[in-house]
Amino acid sequence: MTPSSTANRVSAPHPQNTNVPELAWKQRYASLGPDFVVALSPTPLPEPYWVARNRPLASALGLPQPWGSNDALLQTFTGNTAPAGAAQSASVYSGHQFGVWAGQLGDGRACSLGELQGLEVQLKGAGPTPFSRRGDGRAVLRSSIREFLCSEAMHALGVPTTRALCITGSDAPVWREERETAAVVTRVAQSFVRFGHFEHFSHGQQHGKLKTLADYVIDHFYPTCREHVGDGAQPYVALLAQVTQRTAEMVAHWQSVGFCHGVMNTDNMSILGLTLDYGPFQFLDAYDPAHICNHSDTQGRYAFYKQPNVAYWNLYCLGQALMPLIDDQEQAIAALETFKTHYPQALATRFAAKLGFSQAHDTQRPLIEMALKLMAQDRVDFTIFWRHLSHWAAGMDLADARVRDLFMDRAGADALLQAFRALHAQDDTDARAAVSTRMLRANPKYVLRNHLGELAIRAAKAKDFSVLQALQTVLEDPFDEHPDHEAWAGFAPDWAAGIEISCSS
Ligand code: AMP
Ligand code: MG
Repeated sequence: MTPSSTANRVSAPHPQNTNVPELAWKQRYASLGPDFVVALSPTPLPEPYWVARNRPLASALGLPQPWGSNDALLQTFTGNTAPAGAAQSASVYSGHQFGVWAGQLGDGRACSLGELQGLEVQLKGAGPTPFSRRGDGRAVLRSSIREFLCSEAMHALGVPTTRALCITGSDAPVWREERETAAVVTRVAQSFVRFGHFEHFSHGQQHGKLKTLADYVIDHFYPTCREHVGDGAQPYVALLAQVTQRTAEMVAHWQSVGFCHGVMNTDNMSILGLTLDYGPFQFLDAYDPAHICNHSDTQGRYAFYKQPNVAYWNLYCLGQALMPLIDDQEQAIAALETFKTHYPQALATRFAAKLGFSQAHDTQRPLIEMALKLMAQDRVDFTIFWRHLSHWAAGMDLADARVRDLFMDRAGADALLQAFRALHAQDDTDARAAVSTRMLRANPKYVLRNHLGELAIRAAKAKDFSVLQALQTVLEDPFDEHPDHEAWAGFAPDWAAGIEISCSS
């Protein structure tokens, strides 16, 4: 590993915080050794304050309550003091960015404290690491709020994701396109290992380390890969197959809720199939399959409709990286090719649920295609369409215009509703009510639209965190009604189209 010259900017170890009760930190990943992680100390931020907290996750981690009034924890999650028993480290990885091999990257602004209750805890934005390259190691308040809210929104939607524990802020300036202020978002996952970690050791011809990493991931997260090994099955092929399946399911889930990941580089792909690295993401407003949510993605490599193919491409990068451990290339290719069955199956299952069916069936496909084509043609709001359809399903009455009114093509909308009704083929009210209830559990009323995040950010910049808190509460419960926040379930306002989200975070 060759840390860049920024290493000399990493601050000296600071004293441990004795006011935080000693928690049972483990260092499973860090114990792989100095080829995998570099010990470091976060760079303190002046006069930190709480911006957001996630109480249930704090309880799950065993943090002392009430933690909001605990100044020691505020300092800890800003990176100003080291919690007793925790280590602090950054990991090395590499990756393909926008389709091009980018070489070594690594945690340039994430500092891992180790694992609590089987969950790794990382401070993102806690200052430079040996992998910061030309970056400042910081995260701004704006992007930290987006990551915090979206992680928890995705979790509540049931999408596999890293979680967010808290945000602390400081008035210390951070320069992006303009002067902003610093924040640290603490994120949590079973593991933050990325495809890029494998690519790193493979490209560096460090095949022993590659095996150590693969064994670590299998032993901790994919133990079934060791089954049947005596029959000639290969654990690393099994790993590739299982990661392929999880990735297919994750992307199918994204597509079913209209979530667009802005930077699907291999260094942002979780080996556990978790949504990872919330930068320029977006939930679609109007349905446009070609939508590009990242203003830095000038070629549209990560346009919404391309994301399943990108996932498949990224899996091939992982497969390539694992080849030194795999004897039989055909087996590796076979594992990767399962994407072509897993992905459509996963997508069909998701859309079946959105349509109110308990199982996917081929007869649903024309209806799904019809709905998506019509929505694309009329640029209908993705979330609102599915939610309105869920309510409409309770009566399936063509005189009820709430879905039709979303479309300019009224005849097309009527044909769609008739096809939906024909497919359900239920006349009695109870059965229709049951369909509607199922659909209301599959089609959220609330998603983190760009403009909602923006409202929380604007208020937070003025030190008003109430919008953020209210939005957090609503997004934690996205399938239910929140009468006080009806407007957040409405169409995006015109100014939303002007929000530019880039890689700058
Ligand atoms: P991302 O585009 O956020 O996935 O980041 C790509 C790489 O750049 C990773 O190695 C990050 O750790 C690093 N990086 C991003 N922003 C910063 C920053 N402000 N300071 C240091 N490294 C950064
Ligand atoms: Mg990243």
